[in-house]
Amino acid sequence: MSNQPMRLVVVGAAGRMGKALVRAVSENPDAVLHAAIEREGSPFVGQDSGEVAGLTPNGLPITTDALEAFVKAQGVLDFTAPAATVAFSALAAQARLVHVVGTTGMNEADLERLDAAARHAVVVRSGNFSLGVNMLAALVKRAAASLGTDWDIEIVEMHHRMKVDAPSGTALMLGAAAAEGRGISLSNSAVRARDGHTGARVEGTIGFQALRGGSVIGDHTVILAGNGERIELRHIAEDRGLFAQGAVKAALWGLGRKPGHYSMDDILGLTETA
Ligand code: NAD
Repeated sequence: MSNQPMRLVVVGAAGRMGKALVRAVSENPDAVLHAAIEREGSPFVGQDSGEVAGLTPNGLPITTDALEAFVKAQGVLDFTAPAATVAFSALAAQARLVHVVGTTGMNEADLERLDAAARHAVVVRSGNFSLGVNMLAALVKRAAASLGTDWDIEIVEMHHRMKVDAPSGTALMLGAAAAEGRGISLSNSAVRARDGHTGARVEGTIGFQALRGGSVIGDHTVILAGNGERIELRHIAEDRGLFAQGAVKAALWGLGRKPGHYSMDDILGLTETA
């Protein structure tokens, strides 16, 4: 890495994660905040992005002009919403930025647009940027690979009351790790809701339950239920800062890399050791 800190733009800078990202950039000596962007109409536009994030003023007001911000930047940290992330990915590709995507709830069409952008730029996307959850995914993959399909896999997650998508991106990531361990596809095996007379559980399926309430940052439990015994693998996020710090590390990792669509596995190399 050069001696100059990497110039990063935070989009969605007034959001829960956006504020944590502004703080994480300010704490990392290898990175510097280049611009802070919000959506048109946000009441935070024009306010100092440091102050909005709970820091001392940094002299960088929140603006809505992503194009202008991207021109001289090197990376963008994006924990916003699917439509916004898809739009930012095209701009980031044009500007050849490292695009770190934490946004969850994206559908197949959105992901195809990200893949298209990743032909020209480095895109690092993860449903969870914490070391602990990525370690958990590696453990889940290993357990699912070793235990037979008579061990039922259920994933339970809980998040704060404002979360808009379910199951969480992290729960889906853990489900994908379990499916990969079993050598099956998650889309064919996931059971994402149960209600009423559902019939008995179908062997080999991977179930999800999403709880919402209060201010919970993110709890995930993967239950492997066998006959007469049960394993529970659990992760509890205590601070949004850890996702933000992981996202800044991902941006630094992506600088100067070949265009492509990367994940935290590429950065942490955890699944290879599983
Ligand atoms: P939030 O609603 O608090 O913040 C989102 C922000 O994005 C808002 O301030 C909103 O105004 C802004 N925004 C929306 N559209 C925009 C646009 N077009 N241009 C600029 N800004 C725009 O939500 P949050 O809790 O911060 O979560 C954001 C996303 O990050 C969600 O998808 C959430 O699931 C995800 N998330 C991912 C991880 C991870 O590790 N991958 C961790 C936590 C949250």
